[in-house]
Amino acid sequence: MNGNSYFITTSLFFIAIWLIFGIFFDKGYVTITQILAGVPLSFFPDIDHNFSFLGYRNLLTHSIIIWEIIYLFNPHFIFLLIILAVGFHCLCDTLWNKKKQHGFYTIKYIGLFNEEKKRWRYKGLSGGESTFWLASNFIVAIIQFVAIVLIF
Ligand SMILES: [Zn+2]
Repeated sequence: MNGNSYFITTSLFFIAIWLIFGIFFDKGYVTITQILAGVPLSFFPDIDHNFSFLGYRNLLTHSIIIWEIIYLFNPHFIFLLIILAVGFHCLCDTLWNKKKQHGFYTIKYIGLFNEEKKRWRYKGLSGGESTFWLASNFIVAIIQFVAIVLIF
């Protein structure tokens, strides 16, 4: 995805979240300084780029699962924010690469090194399944965020 448009979209998304929850719903703990931390945090899923064994668009990094487990044990707002940030990253990946939901851009489980061919091989989801996976992670993240922030 294009780095600049990604950065701008994510910033606008989190500013909107702040306006809605911090200002309109007057949730004192939803501060602009805290909400903007969601922007750099949303870059986390692409950390898989740096590890051959994960494969690009790894199932675990392009998912809120890790952060849900952390949030379960540490119910702090910052982890809810990370879940939303990672979920929004997943949404952006489906929106901006609609035509690219194949090969390089699909979700991979884990890489296996092929000794003969001296290269990494990846098994993973199909294009449609990848889109479904990414979209579901965002939907769960946004519903959870809205529900919890409105209740507490
Ligand atoms: Zn990504």
